[in-house]
Amino acid sequence: MNNLKLSQYISEADIQKKVKELGATLSQKFKGKDVVAICVLKGSFVFYSDLVRAINCDISCEFFGVASYHGGTKSSGEVKVTLDLQNPIEDKHVILVEDIVDTGITMNYLKNALISRKPKSLTTVALLEKPDALKVPCEIDHSGFKIPNDFVVGYGLDYQGYYRNLPYIAQVQNFN
Ligand code: 5GP
Repeated sequence: MNNLKLSQYISEADIQKKVKELGATLSQKFKGKDVVAICVLKGSFVFYSDLVRAINCDISCEFFGVASYHGGTKSSGEVKVTLDLQNPIEDKHVILVEDIVDTGITMNYLKNALISRKPKSLTTVALLEKPDALKVPCEIDHSGFKIPNDFVVGYGLDYQGYYRNLPYIAQVQNFN
């Protein structure tokens, strides 16, 4: 697995700068409010842990597990819930934190699933967006970087379970 050729795509410094900007925007938006920040597992756990520490308000943390890639490089188009939220979100301000919006299918699924639980507000955040890969319309309230339709790894994103621990985002040059 470690012999895949990677090229750095977004540096650690650029990611951290963007996370601070997003954190400042969300701190302003939710000033004086109590919010629930939802981490979409597994891919967003690294972004999420940096982002919640950059938001200055009362936050409780929830985790929602979904799978759509099943280990490969193409979305299956089918979203499977692997871990449900532990607590109700009814009447709460909710921030949904995703790693990347590719076809948009997962984000749409998550939005519908959360709206049906009647939050007071729902704000969507994604570190990366691939506008050319969208298959369903998908509006994100706050996004970090728009990238081309290439497969990327690192900063929480995996290839067959690996590379999530890279501190930067990389493109895979060769798949064995
Ligand atoms: P979508 O439903 O928008 O097609 O895909 C959403 C999920 O697919 C993301 O949360 C992420 O887990 C995975 N995904 C999409 N694009 C990439 C990519 O370029 N690299 C990796 N590692 N995962 C991706």
